[in-house]
Amino acid sequence: MVPLYQGRGLVETETDAAGMRAAITAARQNLRRPDGGPFGACILKDGRVLAVARNTVLARRDPTCHAEIGAIRLAARRLGTHDLSGCRICSTTEPCPMCFAAIHWAGIDAVVYGTRIADVARLGFRELTISNRAMKRIGGSAVRIVPGVLRVECRELLRDWERWHRGRIY
Ligand SMILES: [Zn+2]
Repeated sequence: MVPLYQGRGLVETETDAAGMRAAITAARQNLRRPDGGPFGACILKDGRVLAVARNTVLARRDPTCHAEIGAIRLAARRLGTHDLSGCRICSTTEPCPMCFAAIHWAGIDAVVYGTRIADVARLGFRELTISNRAMKRIGGSAVRIVPGVLRVECRELLRDWERWHRGRIY
C-alpha cells in the first residue's frame, strides 16, 4: 500500500481526507444494497488504511454493527491486539455514544468525522443526541476530535439515503 503521508500538521489533513474518502466509498457501496445504511468508517495507522467497514445492522440483524465497530474489530484482528493507539478513525457521521465509547476503549488517537449526530437525528434515526465533544468533556477522554472533514460529500450520502431508502429507519 502506498503511504498517504509522512509527518504531521497540514499534511495530516490530507491523510484524514484520504481515510474519509475510503469511508465514503464503503458507505456508498452500502447504499446500493437494500439492507445498507448510509454510514462507513476507516481506520488509519501510520498514514495507511488499516481497516474499512460499512454499517451492517440490518444485514446482520445486529444493532451493534455500526461501521465504526466493524472497523475497530477488523483493525484489532489485523494488528493482533485490542490496543489501537496510534490509529485515527474516519467516520462519515459523528460516531454515536456506543461507538465513541468503543473508540475510547480502543485507545484510538483521534476521531475524524463529516456530518454530525444532529444531521442523522433529523432523518429519524434513533440517535442518542450526545455529541462527541460532550462525551469527551463529561467522560474525560483523551480522544482528539476533528469535525467536518469532507462534510459536503458525507451530507450527499445522507441525502441519497433519504431519497432511496426512506422508511428503513433504525
Ligand atoms: Zn455507532
